[in-house]
Amino acid sequence: MAEPYARVLLKLSGEMFGSEGAAITPDVVGSIANQLAEVVDSGHEVGIVVGGGNIFRGASPRAAGMDRSSADHMGMLATVINALALQDACEKVGLDTRVMSAVHMSEICEPYIRRRAVRHLEKKRLVIFAAGLGAPYFSTDTAAAQRALEIEADAVLKATKVDGVYDVDPEKEADATLYKDLDHHTVLNQGLRVMDATAISLCMDNNLPIIVFNLNPVGNILKVVQGEHIGTFVHTP
Ligand code: UDP
Repeated sequence: MAEPYARVLLKLSGEMFGSEGAAITPDVVGSIANQLAEVVDSGHEVGIVVGGGNIFRGASPRAAGMDRSSADHMGMLATVINALALQDACEKVGLDTRVMSAVHMSEICEPYIRRRAVRHLEKKRLVIFAAGLGAPYFSTDTAAAQRALEIEADAVLKATKVDGVYDVDPEKEADATLYKDLDHHTVLNQGLRVMDATAISLCMDNNLPIIVFNLNPVGNILKVVQGEHIGTFVHTP
Protein backbone atom coordinates (compact mmCIF):
# COMPACT_ATOMS: atom_id res chain seq x y z
CA MET A 1 0.00 0.00 0.00
CA ALA A 2 1.34 3.44 -1.02
CA GLU A 3 1.10 6.67 0.99
CA PRO A 4 -2.41 8.15 1.29
CA TYR A 5 -3.15 11.29 -0.68
CA ALA A 6 -4.00 14.35 1.44
CA ARG A 7 -5.45 16.37 -1.45
CA VAL A 8 -6.74 15.00 -4.74
CA LEU A 9 -8.38 16.27 -7.88
CA LEU A 10 -11.11 13.92 -9.05
CA LYS A 11 -12.18 14.06 -12.70
CA LEU A 12 -15.78 12.98 -13.23
CA SER A 13 -16.87 12.74 -16.86
CA GLY A 14 -20.42 13.63 -17.75
CA GLU A 15 -21.17 9.99 -18.55
CA MET A 16 -20.83 9.18 -14.83
CA PHE A 17 -23.93 11.26 -14.01
CA GLY A 18 -26.67 9.34 -15.79
CA SER A 19 -28.14 5.93 -16.50
CA GLU A 20 -30.47 4.29 -19.02
CA GLY A 21 -30.29 7.14 -21.51
CA ALA A 22 -30.89 9.93 -18.98
CA ALA A 23 -28.20 12.62 -18.86
CA ILE A 24 -28.54 13.01 -15.10
CA THR A 25 -30.02 10.43 -12.73
CA PRO A 26 -30.31 11.74 -9.15
CA ASP A 27 -29.79 8.26 -7.64
CA VAL A 28 -26.56 7.81 -9.58
CA VAL A 29 -25.29 11.24 -8.56
CA GLY A 30 -26.41 10.50 -4.99
CA SER A 31 -24.30 7.38 -4.87
CA ILE A 32 -21.23 9.37 -6.00
CA ALA A 33 -22.01 11.88 -3.22
CA ASN A 34 -22.11 9.06 -0.65
CA GLN A 35 -18.66 7.93 -1.74
CA LEU A 36 -17.37 11.49 -1.54
CA ALA A 37 -18.76 11.95 1.98
CA GLU A 38 -16.76 8.90 3.09
CA VAL A 39 -13.60 10.41 1.63
CA VAL A 40 -14.06 13.91 3.11
CA ASP A 41 -15.04 12.44 6.50
CA SER A 42 -11.74 10.55 6.46
CA GLY A 43 -9.91 13.89 6.33
CA HIS A 44 -8.95 14.04 2.66
CA GLU A 45 -9.34 17.23 0.63
CA VAL A 46 -11.17 16.82 -2.65
CA GLY A 47 -11.50 19.07 -5.67
CA ILE A 48 -13.62 17.81 -8.55
CA VAL A 49 -13.62 18.77 -12.22
CA VAL A 50 -16.85 17.75 -13.90
CA GLY A 51 -17.26 17.03 -17.60
CA GLY A 52 -20.29 17.75 -19.72
CA GLY A 53 -20.24 15.02 -22.36
CA ASN A 54 -23.58 13.58 -21.18
CA ILE A 55 -25.19 16.82 -22.36
CA PHE A 56 -23.03 18.42 -25.07
CA ARG A 57 -19.53 18.36 -26.49
CA GLY A 58 -18.21 21.04 -28.81
CA ALA A 59 -16.25 18.62 -30.99
CA SER A 60 -18.99 15.99 -31.39
CA PRO A 61 -20.97 15.19 -34.56
CA ARG A 62 -24.02 16.71 -32.85
CA ALA A 63 -22.32 20.08 -33.21
CA ALA A 64 -21.58 19.57 -36.92
CA GLY A 65 -21.73 22.84 -38.84
CA MET A 66 -21.56 24.97 -35.71
CA ASP A 67 -18.85 27.44 -34.96
CA ARG A 68 -16.46 25.48 -32.75
CA SER A 69 -16.05 28.19 -30.13
CA SER A 70 -19.81 28.57 -29.73
CA ALA A 71 -20.21 24.81 -29.49
CA ASP A 72 -17.49 24.68 -26.84
CA HIS A 73 -19.23 27.41 -24.88
CA MET A 74 -22.31 25.16 -24.87
CA GLY A 75 -20.16 22.28 -23.66
CA MET A 76 -18.79 24.41 -20.82
CA LEU A 77 -22.33 25.36 -19.77
CA ALA A 78 -23.18 21.64 -19.74
CA THR A 79 -20.47 21.11 -17.14
CA VAL A 80 -22.13 23.74 -14.93
CA ILE A 81 -25.40 21.77 -15.05
CA ASN A 82 -23.56 18.66 -13.88
CA ALA A 83 -21.75 20.64 -11.18
CA LEU A 84 -25.06 21.87 -9.77
CA ALA A 85 -26.49 18.34 -9.77
CA LEU A 86 -23.45 17.10 -7.90
CA GLN A 87 -23.54 19.99 -5.43
CA ASP A 88 -27.20 19.26 -4.68
CA ALA A 89 -26.45 15.58 -4.04
CA CYS A 90 -23.40 16.36 -1.91
CA GLU A 91 -25.31 18.85 0.23
CA LYS A 92 -28.02 16.24 0.77
CA VAL A 93 -25.46 13.98 2.41
CA GLY A 94 -24.18 16.83 4.58
CA LEU A 95 -21.10 17.88 2.62
CA ASP A 96 -20.16 21.51 2.62
CA THR A 97 -19.80 22.08 -1.12
CA ARG A 98 -18.84 24.98 -3.35
CA VAL A 99 -19.14 25.25 -7.11
CA MET A 100 -16.53 27.51 -8.70
CA SER A 101 -16.93 28.31 -12.37
CA ALA A 102 -14.33 29.46 -14.86
CA VAL A 103 -17.13 31.35 -16.62
CA HIS A 104 -18.66 33.96 -14.35
CA MET A 105 -22.29 33.37 -13.40
CA SER A 106 -22.54 34.98 -10.00
CA GLU A 107 -26.23 34.21 -9.41
CA ILE A 108 -25.49 30.49 -9.54
CA CYS A 109 -22.00 29.84 -8.24
CA GLU A 110 -18.72 31.41 -7.23
CA PRO A 111 -16.14 32.54 -9.75
CA TYR A 112 -12.99 30.43 -9.84
CA ILE A 113 -10.33 32.11 -7.72
CA ARG A 114 -7.39 29.86 -6.92
CA ARG A 115 -6.65 31.13 -3.43
CA ARG A 116 -10.29 30.93 -2.46
CA ALA A 117 -10.50 27.39 -3.81
CA VAL A 118 -7.52 26.35 -1.69
CA ARG A 119 -9.05 27.98 1.38
CA HIS A 120 -12.28 26.02 0.83
CA LEU A 121 -10.27 22.81 0.61
CA GLU A 122 -8.36 23.61 3.80
CA LYS A 123 -11.73 24.03 5.52
CA LYS A 124 -12.63 20.51 4.30
CA ARG A 125 -15.18 21.81 1.82
CA LEU A 126 -15.69 19.93 -1.39
CA VAL A 127 -14.89 22.16 -4.36
CA ILE A 128 -16.49 21.46 -7.73
CA PHE A 129 -14.76 23.19 -10.62
CA ALA A 130 -17.19 23.97 -13.44
CA ALA A 131 -16.86 25.31 -17.00
CA GLY A 132 -13.49 23.68 -17.57
CA LEU A 133 -10.82 26.29 -18.16
CA GLY A 134 -13.35 28.79 -19.49
CA ALA A 135 -11.76 28.67 -22.95
CA PRO A 136 -12.77 26.79 -26.09
CA TYR A 137 -10.65 24.04 -27.69
CA PHE A 138 -9.87 22.53 -24.31
CA SER A 139 -11.38 19.51 -22.56
CA THR A 140 -12.28 18.99 -18.95
CA ASP A 141 -9.46 16.42 -18.79
CA THR A 142 -7.05 19.27 -19.41
CA ALA A 143 -8.94 21.41 -16.89
CA ALA A 144 -8.53 18.58 -14.36
CA ALA A 145 -4.76 18.47 -14.87
CA GLN A 146 -4.52 22.26 -14.73
CA ARG A 147 -6.68 22.71 -11.63
CA ALA A 148 -4.83 19.85 -9.92
CA LEU A 149 -1.56 21.71 -10.43
CA GLU A 150 -3.00 25.01 -9.25
CA ILE A 151 -4.41 23.58 -6.02
CA GLU A 152 -1.25 21.46 -5.55
CA ALA A 153 -3.12 18.18 -5.51
CA ASP A 154 -1.08 15.04 -4.93
CA ALA A 155 -2.70 13.24 -7.84
CA VAL A 156 -5.40 13.36 -10.49
CA LEU A 157 -7.99 10.63 -10.01
CA LYS A 158 -9.69 9.78 -13.28
CA ALA A 159 -12.93 7.91 -12.59
CA THR A 160 -14.16 5.55 -15.32
CA LYS A 161 -16.63 2.73 -15.85
CA VAL A 162 -13.88 0.13 -16.27
CA ASP A 163 -11.09 -0.98 -13.95
CA GLY A 164 -8.31 1.17 -15.44
CA VAL A 165 -6.29 1.41 -18.65
CA TYR A 166 -6.25 -1.61 -20.97
CA ASP A 167 -4.22 -2.50 -24.07
CA VAL A 168 -7.50 -2.79 -26.05
CA ASP A 169 -11.09 -1.76 -25.32
CA PRO A 170 -12.28 -4.11 -22.52
CA GLU A 171 -15.91 -3.53 -23.49
CA LYS A 172 -15.18 -4.98 -26.96
CA GLU A 173 -12.38 -7.52 -26.38
CA ALA A 174 -12.78 -10.23 -23.73
CA ASP A 175 -9.01 -10.80 -23.42
CA ALA A 176 -8.06 -7.16 -22.83
CA THR A 177 -5.14 -6.76 -20.39
CA LEU A 178 -5.25 -4.20 -17.58
CA TYR A 179 -2.08 -2.15 -17.06
CA LYS A 180 -1.26 -1.73 -13.35
CA ASP A 181 1.55 0.75 -13.90
CA LEU A 182 2.37 3.05 -16.82
CA ASP A 183 4.57 6.03 -17.43
CA HIS A 184 3.26 9.26 -18.95
CA HIS A 185 5.52 8.84 -22.04
CA THR A 186 4.11 5.43 -22.87
CA VAL A 187 0.56 6.72 -22.55
CA LEU A 188 1.35 9.53 -24.99
CA ASN A 189 3.42 7.46 -27.43
CA GLN A 190 0.98 4.58 -27.60
CA GLY A 191 -2.10 6.81 -27.57
CA LEU A 192 -3.56 4.86 -24.65
CA ARG A 193 -7.00 6.04 -23.62
CA VAL A 194 -6.32 7.72 -20.28
CA MET A 195 -6.96 11.42 -20.84
CA ASP A 196 -6.36 13.57 -23.92
CA ALA A 197 -2.82 14.38 -25.04
CA THR A 198 -2.85 17.97 -23.72
CA ALA A 199 -3.83 16.73 -20.25
CA ILE A 200 -1.24 13.95 -20.26
CA SER A 201 1.52 16.33 -21.38
CA LEU A 202 0.66 18.76 -18.61
CA CYS A 203 0.81 15.97 -16.02
CA MET A 204 4.06 14.61 -17.50
CA ASP A 205 5.79 17.99 -17.58
CA ASN A 206 4.85 18.65 -13.96
CA ASN A 207 5.37 15.15 -12.61
CA LEU A 208 1.75 14.77 -11.54
CA PRO A 209 0.53 11.17 -11.16
CA ILE A 210 -2.80 10.03 -12.55
CA ILE A 211 -4.80 7.12 -11.17
CA VAL A 212 -7.40 5.66 -13.50
CA PHE A 213 -9.93 3.57 -11.61
CA ASN A 214 -13.47 2.21 -11.65
CA LEU A 215 -15.94 4.51 -9.88
CA ASN A 216 -18.67 1.94 -9.58
CA PRO A 217 -17.65 -0.43 -6.81
CA VAL A 218 -18.75 1.61 -3.79
CA GLY A 219 -15.77 2.68 -1.69
CA ASN A 220 -13.29 2.83 -4.57
CA ILE A 221 -12.58 6.57 -4.24
CA LEU A 222 -11.66 6.05 -0.59
CA LYS A 223 -9.43 3.10 -1.48
CA VAL A 224 -7.54 5.20 -4.01
CA VAL A 225 -7.02 8.19 -1.69
CA GLN A 226 -5.88 5.84 1.05
CA GLY A 227 -3.14 4.62 -1.25
CA GLU A 228 -4.50 1.18 -2.12
CA HIS A 229 -3.21 0.19 -5.55
CA ILE A 230 -6.34 -0.30 -7.60
CA GLY A 231 -6.72 0.59 -11.26
CA THR A 232 -3.82 1.97 -13.29
CA PHE A 233 -1.13 4.20 -11.83
CA VAL A 234 0.34 6.60 -14.43
CA HIS A 235 3.51 8.35 -13.35
CA THR A 236 7.09 9.13 -14.38
CA PRO A 237 9.40 6.89 -12.33
N1 UDP B 1 -14.98 22.58 -22.89
C1 UDP B 1 -14.26 23.67 -23.35
N2 UDP B 1 -13.21 24.15 -22.62
C2 UDP B 1 -12.81 23.58 -21.45
C3 UDP B 1 -13.51 22.44 -21.00
C4 UDP B 1 -14.59 21.96 -21.73
O1 UDP B 1 -14.57 24.22 -24.41
O2 UDP B 1 -11.85 24.06 -20.82
C5 UDP B 1 -16.19 22.13 -23.61
C6 UDP B 1 -15.87 21.22 -24.80
O3 UDP B 1 -16.82 21.46 -25.81
C7 UDP B 1 -16.12 19.85 -24.18
C8 UDP B 1 -17.31 20.12 -23.31
O4 UDP B 1 -17.03 21.39 -22.74
O5 UDP B 1 -16.39 18.88 -25.15
C9 UDP B 1 -17.57 19.12 -22.22
O6 UDP B 1 -16.36 18.70 -21.64
P1 UDP B 1 -15.73 17.25 -21.89
O7 UDP B 1 -15.96 16.81 -23.32
O8 UDP B 1 -14.33 17.29 -21.45
O9 UDP B 1 -16.63 16.38 -20.91
P2 UDP B 1 -16.54 14.81 -20.53
O10 UDP B 1 -16.16 14.07 -21.79
O11 UDP B 1 -15.50 14.67 -19.50
O12 UDP B 1 -17.90 14.49 -20.03
